[in-house]
Amino acid sequence: MEYLKGIRFPDGYFCRKCNHKEYWINKRGILVCKSCRDELSLTAGTIFHRSKLSLVIIFRALWWMVAQKNGVSAVGLQRVLGIGSYRTAWTWLHKFRRLMVFPGRGRLTGNVEVDETFVGGKKSGKRGRGAEGKALVVIAVEILEKGSGRVRLSIVPDASHESLVKFISDNIEKGSVVITDGWNGYSGLSAKGYSHKIEEMTKLLEDEEILPNVHRIASLLKRWLLGTHQNYIGEPYLSYYLDEYTFRFNRRKSKSRGLLFQRLIEQGVMHEPVDYKLIRSM
Ligand SMILES: [Zn+2]
Repeated sequence: MEYLKGIRFPDGYFCRKCNHKEYWINKRGILVCKSCRDELSLTAGTIFHRSKLSLVIIFRALWWMVAQKNGVSAVGLQRVLGIGSYRTAWTWLHKFRRLMVFPGRGRLTGNVEVDETFVGGKKSGKRGRGAEGKALVVIAVEILEKGSGRVRLSIVPDASHESLVKFISDNIEKGSVVITDGWNGYSGLSAKGYSHKIEEMTKLLEDEEILPNVHRIASLLKRWLLGTHQNYIGEPYLSYYLDEYTFRFNRRKSKSRGLLFQRLIEQGVMHEPVDYKLIRSM
């Protein structure tokens, strides 16, 4: 509670009604203003509201999720923290995933490779038509002098011009160089303010060999979904796993896990309450 209080009131408590700076804490853990008696619950209206788990266990769960290189499955979390119910562990991991897109994050810049891939299911899909039981995911990756920079991933309904251009304008800064294959869904990017570079497949280069950065991300993503979560994740949940993957990948070089933990708690304080029913009803 002290930790949450520090995050909600970085400059110290003040009453939301009368601005008074002194309070006491009652038996239910509620902050009561000494001047006007206004009662404030630190978890009300946040993602930590009315949980079956204590805050200490929730913080441990989040720490575990952040500290493990590949994250954790609900079964794994349940075992590590001795959480009684699988459903509770599953629900909390889903709550955490909802905190992983920070507001105001910048669009990708520079040289950016873009391509789509099918995720899930067993049969391979045909481009532009979709495939049963699979989701079409667009991937954008910044190319740095050495390796890949940041990524963005998103489910799109199809590989049409409309869907792909919307993804690109949402996620890539105008003026950037967008590198794609020759698929006509990507035509007309120059008119949208991008410099468009097309890598053509030739007899020497198979599909997998052009756009190497984006293909590497696609295979890492699929390996992560199978490895950590060990089952097929389809819509509607897949987009939240993509958010988690993006969060992990873009911060893979971050040296301060503690800071990431704190940023996620801050996000949780700003996020409205979410419960099992709401997550399941998606
Ligand atoms: Zn007051």
